[in-house]
Amino acid sequence: MMQDIPKTNPESRFESGIAGRLAALQNRIHVAERASARAEGAVNLIAVSKTQPASRIRQVYACGQRNFGENYLQEALLKQDKLIDCDICWHFIGPIQSNKTRLVASRFDWVHSIDRLKIAERLSEQRPVDRSPLNVCIQVNVSHEVSKGGVAPADLATLANAVAMLPGLRLRGLMTIPAPENDPARQRIPFRALRQAFDDLDVLGLDTLSMGMSDDLEAAIAEGSTLVRIGTALFGVRTKSTA
Ligand SMILES: *Cc1c(COP(=O)(O)O)cnc(C)c1O
Repeated sequence: MMQDIPKTNPESRFESGIAGRLAALQNRIHVAERASARAEGAVNLIAVSKTQPASRIRQVYACGQRNFGENYLQEALLKQDKLIDCDICWHFIGPIQSNKTRLVASRFDWVHSIDRLKIAERLSEQRPVDRSPLNVCIQVNVSHEVSKGGVAPADLATLANAVAMLPGLRLRGLMTIPAPENDPARQRIPFRALRQAFDDLDVLGLDTLSMGMSDDLEAAIAEGSTLVRIGTALFGVRTKSTA
């Protein structure tokens, strides 16, 4: 008789591997910090949990991770409800529709994807008064790609000065999603441009450069990233949403 092949449960496999993957990722960040003469701990990690179920977020949380990033509002809200007992700092990193700003303003701690004043004004007005101002980054299109979101570099200073005045927001820095690029030296070009734009805004006292993903975090850290947003290198290749 044929023996039953033991079924491997993907969730228990994920759980047994996650602590090691998180540690390996943190080590990758530390190696990059040292290689660029950055202070250890200068770069923070956002675990990008889009399409990942709440159960996996909980497992990563159990390993000590506290910052999580989500792109899709409805999916994020469902998971937040399931994780209400967790002390998570939630980052909204996806495009924002103007009719969805109220929920973003009330349910997130950070928004990285501000690219027009109208959205920033709505978020500021709708931030609940009993919460500290919403931390925001302005998304800048430094790769000059029409398809990606982000303000054009030429319009950044005007937008940043206006956003910095809004009482419900605290402007923390800049974010970018560069065009995919395999060559490590070329990966640094858009990150250097964002760093330059950040330095040009020094009167605003910004402290955050949100740049670097699974395939380019070393290049981003070399150019001064303070926050890397990592999905694939932590959770594995994304399939579909299972919120
Ligand atoms: C999906 C996503 C990430 C993470 O990308 P990975 O390549 O999976 O690490 C980071 N930032 C934003 C804005 C994203 O949408």
